[in-house]
Amino acid sequence: MLSALFCFSACSTSKKAEQADSDFNYAVDQFADIQILRYQVPGFDKLSLKQKELIYYLNEAALQGRDIIYDQNCKHNLCIRRTMEAIYQYGQVDKTSKDWKEFETYLKRVWVSNGIHHHYATDKFVPGFSKDFFTKAVLSVNQDSLPLSDGETVQELLDKLAPIIFDPKIDAKRLNQTDGQDLILTSANNYYQGVTQKEAEDFYNALKDPKDNTPISYGLNSRLVKENGKVTEKVWKADALYGQAITKIIYWLEKASQVAENEKQAEIIQKLIEYYKTGDLKTFDDYSILWVEDLNSRVDFVNGFIETYGDPIGLKASWESIVNFKNEEATKRTETISNNAQWFEDHSPVAKEFKKEKVKGVTAKVINVSILAGDCYPTTPIGINLPNANWIRRDHGSKSVTIENITEAYDKATQGTGFNEEFMWSDVEVGLVEKYGFLTDNLHTDLHECLGHGSGKLLPGVDPDGLKSYGSTIEEARADLFGLYYLADQRMIDLKLVPNKEAYKAEYYKYLMNGLMTQLTRISPGNNIEESHMRNRALIARWVYEKATPSKAVEFRKKDGKTYVVINDYQKVRTLFGELLAEIQRIRSTGDYKAAQKLIETYAVKVDPILHKEILERYKALNLAPYKGFVNPVYTPEFDKNGKIKDVKVSYTEGYAEQHLRYSKQYKTLPTYN
Ligand code: ZN
Repeated sequence: MLSALFCFSACSTSKKAEQADSDFNYAVDQFADIQILRYQVPGFDKLSLKQKELIYYLNEAALQGRDIIYDQNCKHNLCIRRTMEAIYQYGQVDKTSKDWKEFETYLKRVWVSNGIHHHYATDKFVPGFSKDFFTKAVLSVNQDSLPLSDGETVQELLDKLAPIIFDPKIDAKRLNQTDGQDLILTSANNYYQGVTQKEAEDFYNALKDPKDNTPISYGLNSRLVKENGKVTEKVWKADALYGQAITKIIYWLEKASQVAENEKQAEIIQKLIEYYKTGDLKTFDDYSILWVEDLNSRVDFVNGFIETYGDPIGLKASWESIVNFKNEEATKRTETISNNAQWFEDHSPVAKEFKKEKVKGVTAKVINVSILAGDCYPTTPIGINLPNANWIRRDHGSKSVTIENITEAYDKATQGTGFNEEFMWSDVEVGLVEKYGFLTDNLHTDLHECLGHGSGKLLPGVDPDGLKSYGSTIEEARADLFGLYYLADQRMIDLKLVPNKEAYKAEYYKYLMNGLMTQLTRISPGNNIEESHMRNRALIARWVYEKATPSKAVEFRKKDGKTYVVINDYQKVRTLFGELLAEIQRIRSTGDYKAAQKLIETYAVKVDPILHKEILERYKALNLAPYKGFVNPVYTPEFDKNGKIKDVKVSYTEGYAEQHLRYSKQYKTLPTYN
C-alpha cells in the first residue's frame, strides 16, 4: 500500500535532509496540470563502493521494467508512445505551430501517466492537436522509425491509432469505478481481455478456499483472458507474458545478488528471481516473508507486481520498482513510533474485538530513493507499506517507509507559491503550517504507513477482498485516521515526536482544507472523485465536517466572496476522527460491504460544482500545477582497467524529454503489442 502526497503547502521552515544541497535546482518543467521536479540523493556518495554497486544493479533492474507498466495500463500505449516519440524526434512538421506545442504537451503527459490516461483521474487525454496534423506528422517520418506490426502499412497504423487518440468514447477510462457498471468491461486497462466482471469474479472465487489461512494473492501476476470460450490466466513471468522484460530484470538482479550486503539479502534477491522465472505466487509469498524480515541491510528495494489500485476489482498488480537506502538520522523518528506500536494499538478508539492482541514486527524507516520506476515513475508515492498480503502482515509484520528525499523535493519546490495565503483562513493557520507543516506531514505519513496499515485485524472467515471496489478507499481511510487521531495525542509529545500541543493543528487544518476544498484542484469540472486516496480524504473531511456542523467545530466561512475552512474546536475534530476510525475499522474487520458503499457513495464521490468552480478559479490565478512528477538522477559506473566498477557517479542534469527518450531506447524490452 502506498500513500500519495497531499501536501500542496508552502512551508518556509523545513528540516534539512542529510547533506542536501541547498542551492539545488528542483524545478525542471511544467505543462498541463503537472510540474516536473528533480530530487537529490543525499548520502549516496558516502555509501561503500559495494553498496553503490548494488544500488547501480538494482537501479538497472528497475528501469528494465518500464515497458510493462505502459502495456498494463492500456494495450495501445506502447504503440502510441513509440509513434509519438518517432514524430517528436524525426517528424518533418512546423515546430512553431500551435499543433506542435499541443502535440509536445500530449507526449509529455503520456510520459507522466505511462500511457494515454491521466495518471490520477484515469480518464483519457483530450488531444489539443488536430487529426490532420497527426496524420501529416506520421507520414513525414521514415517508416523504419514507426512501430509497425508485421505487414502493417503506415496507413493501417494511422487508421488503428486515430480513433484511440481522438474518439473520446473509445477506452474512455483506464479504471472505471462507477457503482453499478461492469467495471472490467468499461475499464481500458490491459488486465483483462474479453471477460466480464462476473466471469472474473467467478473465476477467482472458485479458486479461493475460505478455510485457507495463508492464501496466495490470486490473480496478482497475470492477465485474465477468454480464449475459445474458456477463461484462463496468462502469467507474467520469464518464459511467458512480459518475458522479454522480466528476463532483463533477472539479468540485473543476478548481478545485484553477487554484491549483496549480506547472505540474507542475497537469498531474498535469489528468491525474487525464482519467482520471476516460475510465476509461482507461493514463491512470491516466500520472497515477501524473507523481504519483510530483512531489517539489517542498509540498501533495500521493491521490484515486482505489487499494488492493485489499477484493477477495478483489486486483484491485478501493476509493475513497479524503487531502490533505496536508509536515512539513518531520520529513521530514529520512525523507530520511536514502531517501538511503541503496541501501545498505539491498545489505546486506539477501535472496538477491542477488532484490535491486534499482539502487533507483529511493524518496522519503519526513513529512506532516500535512488531510482523510481514502473508505476512509481515519474509520479511517486511518499510512503510505502509492504507486503500487501494480509496473512503475511498478520504473521510476519510489514515494512513501512517514508521517502524523505521526495518529500524534501516537494516541500522545497512549493515554497513561496502563495498557495497557503490564498486558501487558508488567516495568518494563524498560515503560521502554524509554516512552523510545523513539514514535520507533521512527515509524521502523518509515518503513522499512516507504520501503524495505520498495520493496525487492526479481520474477524475469522472475513474475505480480505470482500469490500471489492471500496476496499482501497476504506483501507486508506483507516490508515489516515489512525495517524490523524494520534498526531494530537499527549503521547506524541512525551515521545518527543512533536514539540508541543499546537503542532498537530497544522496537519489537521491542512487535512480538512485539502479534503473539503483544495484537492478539488485535481479534478476537471463535471467529474467525480475517483482515485482512492482522494476519495479517502473527501470521505474523512466531509464526514467530520457534517458531524462538526451542529457545534460549529468546523465551518465554511466567506470573506470577499471566497470560501474558507475554519476550525473552531480542534479537540472536537480529534474526537470525530476517533469515532470515524472506530467505524471504518469495524467495516474492514467485518467486511461490511453495504456500510462501506454507503459511506463512500455519500461522502467521497460527488463534487459540489459551485465550490469546485470557485476553487479552480482561485487556483488558476496562482499558476501552479496540482501534480508533480520527477526525473531520476543518472548513475554512471566508472571501471578500473580490469573492468571492475571502481565508483558510481550520480548526476542531476538530465532533462525530462531527454530522459524519456533515452529510456525508450535503452530500456526497450517489449514488443509493441503483448
Ligand atoms: Zn496508505
